[in-house]
Amino acid sequence: MEKKVDLCVKNALILTMDPNDTIIENGYLCVEGDSILEIGTGDMEESMAHKTIDAQGGLLLPGLINCHTHVPMTLFRGLADDLPLMEWLTNYIFPVERNMDEDFVRVGALLGCAEMILSGTTTFCDMYLFENEVAKAASEAGMRCLVGEVLYDFPSPNYGELENGFRYTESLIQQWKANPLVSIAVEPHSVFTCSPTLLERAADLASQYGVPFIIHLAETRDELDQVRERYGKTPVEHLKDLGLLTDEVIADHCVHLSPRDMDFLQESGARVVHNPQSNMKLASGIAPVPDLLARGIAVGIGTDGCASNNNLDMFEEMDTTAKLHKVSKMDPTVMDALTVLKMATIGGAKVLGLDKLIGSIEVGKKADFIVLDPNCPHLVPMYNPYSHIVYAARGDDVHHCVINGKVVMEDRTLLTIEVEEVIARAKQKAALVRKWVQQSQ
Ligand SMILES: [Zn+2]
Repeated sequence: MEKKVDLCVKNALILTMDPNDTIIENGYLCVEGDSILEIGTGDMEESMAHKTIDAQGGLLLPGLINCHTHVPMTLFRGLADDLPLMEWLTNYIFPVERNMDEDFVRVGALLGCAEMILSGTTTFCDMYLFENEVAKAASEAGMRCLVGEVLYDFPSPNYGELENGFRYTESLIQQWKANPLVSIAVEPHSVFTCSPTLLERAADLASQYGVPFIIHLAETRDELDQVRERYGKTPVEHLKDLGLLTDEVIADHCVHLSPRDMDFLQESGARVVHNPQSNMKLASGIAPVPDLLARGIAVGIGTDGCASNNNLDMFEEMDTTAKLHKVSKMDPTVMDALTVLKMATIGGAKVLGLDKLIGSIEVGKKADFIVLDPNCPHLVPMYNPYSHIVYAARGDDVHHCVINGKVVMEDRTLLTIEVEEVIARAKQKAALVRKWVQQSQ
């Protein structure tokens, strides 16, 4: 008798997102250890696997990849909306962040991991403070992530002086080096909050360890004005002239780009993350994503933090990505559903440099996938599965979630996170947030 595999999912409509966009009807998928061992079609014996999940005809696809967020900001969800950026930062976000500690970040990160798994995200890329706590939370939750400590010119509530920030980042890189789920990046906040010296040192550290250099770039008009005033250049030109615009760069937002900026991004091999809901909510503008894609630039999708979104649901973000560019171009044919779903799966994996491991359902790749509930009224009938994912499905249609071969959610029950406990602790933290905001006013 053949050896049993660890896990099989049967009776699924598999969207592989492989280079041929293969769709497998009545498909099954077998997992051994952390990897996809076999993909096929037709019936399979239950006795082949230690555990079998019946997808009941539901869609199975690669787990979604949230390419830019600040996960612990789940604890700021709805704290202050509809305000000008500076007022929002000065009166709400900074007073709270000044008081924050490791436990605060840990609870926010766990809450975010719960929310992401429940809405089909299996990998996220994070920038925040006390990032070791985010890495630990992700690792406990069984989520894949690329994370890094935010660096800027002013003292940090976590590490204090900048010098310690570099040390902290380096120790994160060393500490998580061999972890199968967690990778570390060097993450200077932006070109207007980081001096050229800081940016150069950050880039040196990133290339020393061969890790990505992640930065907010050309997000707002305000940033453009500040950088123009200080350096007489656009943010992209500034980074390029410092010699730091390379294929190690992951640039978040890229809303305000000149044609020359786009040339430079294209020539450098830098990767871009689009955050449409955050850009809309903060009235930052519309990133030229169809143009970037037409140039062959890798573009992923991110939710940004919960203070500017206000959730981590990548299904909503895909829907918004498609519709924002259609209305902006006054052309319903731009950003079709398949293009958008690619950005949230294999395209996002390319942005994070993880496309050899994840982003598509292919034999030998890591087993990171989700299965959607086939029996919801709003998903019936189904003529085009890509259209369903982008325009009809919601995060809570995700029924099962597997990351690195491990079932982290089954029948919408989280198996790695004590969600009631996390929610109770998040409410306690929210009481602290209220107090800190009051004290500062
Ligand atoms: Zn951001």
